[in-house]
Amino acid sequence: LLQLYGPLDKFGYSYKSLQKSFIDMEMMLDLFKEPVEIQDQPEAKPLEMTGREVVFENVSFGYDPQNLKLKSVSFKVPRGKKLALVGPSGGGKSTILRLLSRFYDPTQGRILIDGQDIKNVTQSSLRKNIGIVPQDTGLFNETIGYNIGYGRIAQDRDNGGDGASRLSLSEESTKSDPDIPYYEDLEDSGCIQEAAEAARIHEIVSGFPNGYATHVGERGLLLSGGEKQRVAIARTILKNPPILLLDEATSALDTQTEREIQKSIESISKGRMTLMIAHRLSTVVDADEILVIQNGEIAEHGSHVELMRMGGVYASMWIQQLHEGRAPAESSRSSDKESS
Ligand code: ATP
Repeated sequence: LLQLYGPLDKFGYSYKSLQKSFIDMEMMLDLFKEPVEIQDQPEAKPLEMTGREVVFENVSFGYDPQNLKLKSVSFKVPRGKKLALVGPSGGGKSTILRLLSRFYDPTQGRILIDGQDIKNVTQSSLRKNIGIVPQDTGLFNETIGYNIGYGRIAQDRDNGGDGASRLSLSEESTKSDPDIPYYEDLEDSGCIQEAAEAARIHEIVSGFPNGYATHVGERGLLLSGGEKQRVAIARTILKNPPILLLDEATSALDTQTEREIQKSIESISKGRMTLMIAHRLSTVVDADEILVIQNGEIAEHGSHVELMRMGGVYASMWIQQLHEGRAPAESSRSSDKESS
């Protein structure tokens, strides 16, 4: 983490504003490995969020501008809708989410949130409105309660405070400031349990002898991948962001865990704008729109049923995953949908 923060010193960021702007960054191990090079425009304004829509307008981008990795990508995610990004490895799915979080600016085209080009808004205001459930969730070597309560920072902000800067990474400084909601207070108020219930992790946590006071251990080693992802979902529920970015774990999950995670994602997606990278096609059947991203372009788009009917790239990927035994339960779900 310090390696990520280090290069930012030269841009004059204070530690607190770093915490605020990049509060999720340390959690996004795979998605956002790179240090941020973007700076706010001198006249940057806070994003005015009405929660209407996210729009990509002919967005092209290359990490090296001579070598475009996204080519004229356009799509819209209205409030309450879920967009799934699927496609071969290296196609550009993560790049789309990195651009939306403004870790880079498009080489061409615009990204608009509620009509505002994200290039012209402050990065901190942008990231406050984005919640991320990364593929591989980073956890503090702290209790489960603390790890979930960490998501509360943004909810405080939504209530008029500046929660992001109030909940410190340092336990000591957090405890010494009476205005800062320490996670135990959150636990007392039942927020953490509610979030854990919605994320379908509460039962598991209650089964531990120390419940929410159980330490997760170094990098969360005491929790399975699926449990860690649900902790991230609970944390995001507390943050309560209008835009959700989900990066589905590539690691194999048992069917039951996958279903639990699906249900918890469904519950947090309601009323938000959700963009989800999916590796298992079984999890995108219910998406409102699926984009097949291949070689930096939208090769196909549509609902699951439309794409299956099209018989193109998506349909072949689906058949391949069926053969690999990665989507057995959903073959019946999809045919249910198609016949309905
Ligand atoms: P996966 O499913 O494997 O995660 P993806 O569809 O998310 O793949 P991206 O991570 O968006 O693909 O990568 C798109 C292209 O950009 C790939 O060719 C990748 O090698 C390249 N790329 C990604 N990050 C960088 C970077 N920081 N610098 C240079 N090239 C990069």
